[in-house]
Amino acid sequence: MLPYGAHSIEQDDIDAVVDVLKNQFLTQGKQVPAFENALCNYTSAEYALAVNSATSALHVACLSLGVTKGDIVWTTPNTFVASANCALYCGADIDFVDIDPDTRNLSPSLLEAKLEKAKANRSLPKVVIVVHFAGLSCEMDEFRRLSTEYDFYIIEDASHALGASYKGSRVGCCSNSDITIFSFHPVKPITTAEGGALLTNNKDIFDKALLHAKHGVTRASELIEDEFQAESDGNWYYQQVELGFNYRLSDIHAALGVSQLTKVNAFTEQRQQLALYYNEQLAALPVKVLSKQQIKTSACHIYVVELQQHDRLAVYNKMIEQEIGCNVHYIPVHLQPFYQKLGFKKGDFVNAETYYQNALTLPLFPAMTFQDVDTVVEALKGALL
Ligand SMILES: *Cc1c(COP(=O)(O)O)cnc(C)c1O
Repeated sequence: MLPYGAHSIEQDDIDAVVDVLKNQFLTQGKQVPAFENALCNYTSAEYALAVNSATSALHVACLSLGVTKGDIVWTTPNTFVASANCALYCGADIDFVDIDPDTRNLSPSLLEAKLEKAKANRSLPKVVIVVHFAGLSCEMDEFRRLSTEYDFYIIEDASHALGASYKGSRVGCCSNSDITIFSFHPVKPITTAEGGALLTNNKDIFDKALLHAKHGVTRASELIEDEFQAESDGNWYYQQVELGFNYRLSDIHAALGVSQLTKVNAFTEQRQQLALYYNEQLAALPVKVLSKQQIKTSACHIYVVELQQHDRLAVYNKMIEQEIGCNVHYIPVHLQPFYQKLGFKKGDFVNAETYYQNALTLPLFPAMTFQDVDTVVEALKGALL
């Protein structure tokens, strides 16, 4: 079965991990800061915090912005559940803004309309979490403009988008947001097995994120001014000042990240070439795909076609029968049973629902060949007959 996504691990990645295993520190050694520095260098963000998943990064992102009970957080329904769950972890209320069918990303114009209404009702969000779906950056200029006008924070869930760019800057630079988070799960652009990161240009946000990701504990040596509320007893002394978590990444994982990050441009290039080739080969078929222009700035994390006149389940089943590992991204979050219990229902976000009815993710990963694409396209032609 050709998988819909796959990581690429080479000998130098393996060597980097084995090196750590032979060294003194398996965790809290030099690899984590090296990975954090490399992430800053790659994205141009000022601060990076490596953690054990993007889900953890989203949680500490919300905590570091002060999200708490009584606050409101908005995100897109076309995402993995973690983008919404993080608000609920903090006791906040969650709501969604529908997508733009052309980008499949949270729609800036629908956001503006919802903000106007929320302002009248005094129910403006504290944070809007945008997701660069499939690796295509959201319209960040628009979101920045709205965040200034309506006074909310922006978190970019860039789990799909390491390697993508927006108006000439790399996703992760945070020039139009307060925080960007990445995922390093094996299907994502690069992998640390499990892992994630939080990036920001704001020292105060970074300090808070660090505290929340490490038990809420500060040491005398790394104390944050005025967090320390008592005198130090000596060098061994640490003090818990918040209810934090243990979201640390290990050095084993970080070493893999350092090695993988050197390849992200090559991976992205390969993904983009394959996606452009898919576009050409699919041109005559009744499926909707992203434009060539969109692909050229996207990290091309996944390649989604939207069926125009076929039953998705039937096409999916025929593809699986032919050993093509298709998938579907995403079941709209508000349709999940857990979110239905919170009061969301079918019909609330029709663009995301219509998109979901027709979406099919075809295989795309760096080690795939153009011949593999031909095989997938042939199978799809057969499935659409
Ligand atoms: C994968 C993913 C996450 C969660 O990532 P983990 O590292 O597995 O916690 C969050 N948001 C989006 C959009 C994702 O695709």
